[in-house]
Amino acid sequence: MPKSYRIRLLFLSLLLSLLSAVLPSVQAQSLDSTALLLQELSDAPGPSAFEEAVRAIMVREYQSLGAAIEYDGLGSVLATLPDNSSGPRVMVTAHMDEVGLMVQYITDDGYIRVKLLGGILEQALPDQRWTILGSNGSVMAVSGLHTIHVTPPALRTQVWPVDDIFLDVGARTRAEAEALGIRPGDGIAPYSEFTVLANERYAGKAWDDRVGLAVMLAAARRIQAERLQLPAQVIWVATTQEEIGLRGAQTSVELARPVLGISLEAGVSADYPGIRPTQAQERLGGGPGIFLLDSSMIPNRKLRDFFFAVAATANIPLQPNVLSGYGEDGAEIQRYDTGRPTVNMTVPTRYLHGHTSIIQRSDFDQAVELLLQVLQRLDADTVLELSSFAP
Ligand SMILES: [Zn+2]
Repeated sequence: MPKSYRIRLLFLSLLLSLLSAVLPSVQAQSLDSTALLLQELSDAPGPSAFEEAVRAIMVREYQSLGAAIEYDGLGSVLATLPDNSSGPRVMVTAHMDEVGLMVQYITDDGYIRVKLLGGILEQALPDQRWTILGSNGSVMAVSGLHTIHVTPPALRTQVWPVDDIFLDVGARTRAEAEALGIRPGDGIAPYSEFTVLANERYAGKAWDDRVGLAVMLAAARRIQAERLQLPAQVIWVATTQEEIGLRGAQTSVELARPVLGISLEAGVSADYPGIRPTQAQERLGGGPGIFLLDSSMIPNRKLRDFFFAVAATANIPLQPNVLSGYGEDGAEIQRYDTGRPTVNMTVPTRYLHGHTSIIQRSDFDQAVELLLQVLQRLDADTVLELSSFAP
């Protein structure tokens, strides 16, 4: 190789190593504490009934704010803040679990067969990375995809049913997979790293419903930092097993004993090619959303209108969304005891229940602000009025 080439190569490799040293720190520097919290929550693996990593974050955060912590019998976390026992008990909730898979069995040649935990389109299953939560810690896995070289043209548009899906951890035998700590019944989470896109849009897995948890934590942080006076006693509940039937909400509501409920969720953003306004109406950048109908709940109409009135007063846009599918934890609060006024507020989210969904930071910040504006107005008289059906 001529000397001039060698010098140019040396210069190039120096430049590359300099760039690679600088670039990650640029992204890290540009993330504020809220974005770092969103990143940590999104990256944490926690399919239904395997919420340990998420629970650890929630407990750490609420303890750092001085909240009293309780757990229900399914692992939901209840944090009370402020300790204002004379105020009406308001339950604010979001769920810790995400959609994922469970190990069904290991084949003789070391592949992992799986079943679904929650609703995932089968077309989203192959050709992905996954984290198996084994007894020796996390194991990285890949869902295999037939190469096009061996796929007949007629089968190239076929969707594989979940029973045809297998995960490859690199093991050659069942014994090798078992030695990694993998057993039937282990939880499996999607693997997809948090990434900042244009317009402060955040791509990552599990925004359903880590974005709801982050709204809760960001609101609680501000209550503490700004010494906001709340007339209510707020019980912040991080539930388990929502994606397989609102199970943690059903149990935690018995411990929270609320008089009113606010569910925080990832909304369905309908602003990408192919989705129609008859399917959903939220869009990124349009502010938080509020569900007027989903398949689990019609919100209390007085409380719904209260949210719209507070949003208008505080100059926060609020997007209505009417859906024919979708269940959420609010349904369990609504049916607690003799019934409670409940709404479901959302941060609009694209592509939820896939490996990578997208939210926009401004919607998140406005959801936190609206929640705080509402909580500051929920005194005993207001809650009584919202709960009354007397003509
Ligand atoms: Zn959800």
